[in-house]
Amino acid sequence: MNALHHDSDSLFSRANSGVQALRPYEPGKPVEELERELGIDEAIKLASNENPLGPSPLAMAAAQAVLPGVSLYPDGNGFRLKQRLADFHDIDPARITLGNGSNDVLELIARVFLGPGHNAVFSQHAFAVYPIATLATGAECRAAAANPVDHAMPFGHDLDAMREQIDTDTGVVFVANPNNPTGTWLDHDSLQAFITAVPDDCVVVIDEAYTEYVREADYPDATAWLDEYQNLVVTRTFSKIYGLAGLRIGYALSSPVVADLLNRVRQPFNANSLALAAAEAALDDREHVQRSIDMNSAGMRQLTAAFAEMGLTWIPSVGNFVCVRTGLPGQTLYEAMLRQGIILRPIGNYGLDDHIRITIGTTEQNTRVIEALKQVMETGA
Ligand SMILES: *Cc1c(COP(=O)(O)O)cnc(C)c1O
Repeated sequence: MNALHHDSDSLFSRANSGVQALRPYEPGKPVEELERELGIDEAIKLASNENPLGPSPLAMAAAQAVLPGVSLYPDGNGFRLKQRLADFHDIDPARITLGNGSNDVLELIARVFLGPGHNAVFSQHAFAVYPIATLATGAECRAAAANPVDHAMPFGHDLDAMREQIDTDTGVVFVANPNNPTGTWLDHDSLQAFITAVPDDCVVVIDEAYTEYVREADYPDATAWLDEYQNLVVTRTFSKIYGLAGLRIGYALSSPVVADLLNRVRQPFNANSLALAAAEAALDDREHVQRSIDMNSAGMRQLTAAFAEMGLTWIPSVGNFVCVRTGLPGQTLYEAMLRQGIILRPIGNYGLDDHIRITIGTTEQNTRVIEALKQVMETGA
């Protein structure tokens, strides 16, 4: 027993120090797991910003069509999808890096541009993958204080504060626009001024996982700046509006030199055959994308109107999710909602313990959330 204990301690201390320090990503609870625990069969999950409409039927058909070919390795260069993306973005395919989700691409960026002695800068309350990817390389995390609660964009990125954290050892700056979990966003002029101010040898990542949902006139498409800034990397995903989270496919657009570096460390078959085919088809189904946008706008209005009626405040969000402040600790509310068969996302790990994040669902799902919230708040969890 003692020897065993001793061994596991010494193995832990052998791990690289960044890995020892990192806290693993906490995924949303799967629906089946809650149903098993409660012995029910109509639980809903609004915890991971997935598309409540599901994937495009065209994407499903495309994945099905390539299924007989899965005994062969996928195209390691993702030729067809890259061509399709090159058309879509009007960009040279040599600027595209495919990932097993955009998460994968974020890790590739960290692996190439970070290591012991380097640091990465991002905002407080920013997406949890940035510190994980950074620490895993042995680099230091520098979280800049976010906007205060009385700011027009409460809890959002403070670009001036981020700039102050950048020094000669900063390898990467991560910017989420809009950010998850806050749903806050950055306007065209402020973001471009920020990118211009970052040193040329420091990579700026603009993570646009939710870009398709944003309706604001001042919201920038960072891919338009790629010709101007060699150090700019824009990441996109098929996990959110395209409804392909389970297939794991995302990508980065960058200068050819950065794409070449990322592709050196990329696993040769990181994007699988089903995902490659489905993503291509999903990109073509603009109707499905539009339906998803419309459903999200209506759902956001439905939820926030109910919050207002209940006297609750929320963080203004342009994504497919919203963080509401209920007065109950997030973890307590999360557990009470689980007993109602509803999986939400507590965000204490983001330093927002008094909020809970709700993914916008279908009208019926949102109604269930609202009714359950009312019940939980009346009976005091
Ligand atoms: C969901 C999300 C991603 C993408 O995740 P993948 O499924 O790996 O593509 C990236 N950035 C943010 C901010 C997200 O919320």
